[in-house]
Parts: sequence; C-alpha cells; structure tokens
Amino acid sequence: MARGLTSAERTALLLQVREVYARLAQRPIDRNCLNRTECCRFRLTGRTPFLTRGEALVAHSAARAAGKKKLPLPADGSCPLLGPDGRCTIYDSRPFACRTHFCDAAGGPYSRKEVRDLIHELEAIDQRLGGSGGMGLPAAMKWATEQSS
Ligand code: SF4
Repeated sequence: MARGLTSAERTALLLQVREVYARLAQRPIDRNCLNRTECCRFRLTGRTPFLTRGEALVAHSAARAAGKKKLPLPADGSCPLLGPDGRCTIYDSRPFACRTHFCDAAGGPYSRKEVRDLIHELEAIDQRLGGSGGMGLPAAMKWATEQSS
C-alpha cells in the first residue's frame, strides 16, 4: 500500500472508484449485461479481468460484506467471487473490466475511447495506492486479502 495515506484518504479513494462505476453506468452506451456469468469462467473464455488496486480493495470489501471470508480459487478456473448459486456475489461492486469487457451477449467490449477518461481515473487512484497497473483478478484478490490481514 502507498505510504503516507491516511485512513480517510484511502476511504476517499475507494469512494472515487465507486463514483467511476456510477459514471460508467450513466454513459449512453448500448450494453446490457444479462448476468449469464460466462465471462466469469476464465478458463472457458481464456480471458481474465484486470483490476487496479482501488478496484481490488472495493471488490474485496464487498466480498467480505457478502460473507465471503476466504477467496480460494475454484478448481474449474472460474472467478473466486462467484457464489454457490453461480452468480456474482459482488455484482454492484464488480470491477470495471467486468462491466466493460468482452461479453458478446452484452454487446461486446466497450471501445477504449468510450471509457478512456474513466480508465485514467482508475489508474490515477491505483498510483495513489502504490500500484503500477492492473493485476489479473485472482492476483488482485490475493493482494487485497493481504492488505486486510
Ligand atoms: S467479479 Fe463478479 S462479474 Fe466479475 S468475473 Fe467475478 S463473478 Fe464475474
């Protein structure tokens, strides 16, 4: 974690991450997640969402709030944040990539220019938290777990 951040500053940064998600939701981009969760099965898709540090902390905190104390990697290579019912346990706090990436059923990936400013904001928050770019979701969850232990 970045040295010198107060708890209030850290909280403010995580609030900023949530604001980025809210602003994304307000964009008039024609996408419609049908909650099929195919994109949550990384081995199946061959693709893994990348998260910045702020997103990892938001997702980890949401997982805790949802009662997920541990986040072991499922043997089938799917996301550790999927619940036993096959649904995302942190849907309202899901990372940016889960909202914008490759699901064809939801309308395909967003073009970078549609969301570039929001990505830059997440990257700036990442740097404030001592990060240097996104991590694959399993590594991001491992890192966030270490920060809270
Ligand atoms: S965080 Fe949620 S939406 Fe994203 S891959 Fe994991 S289960 Fe799917």
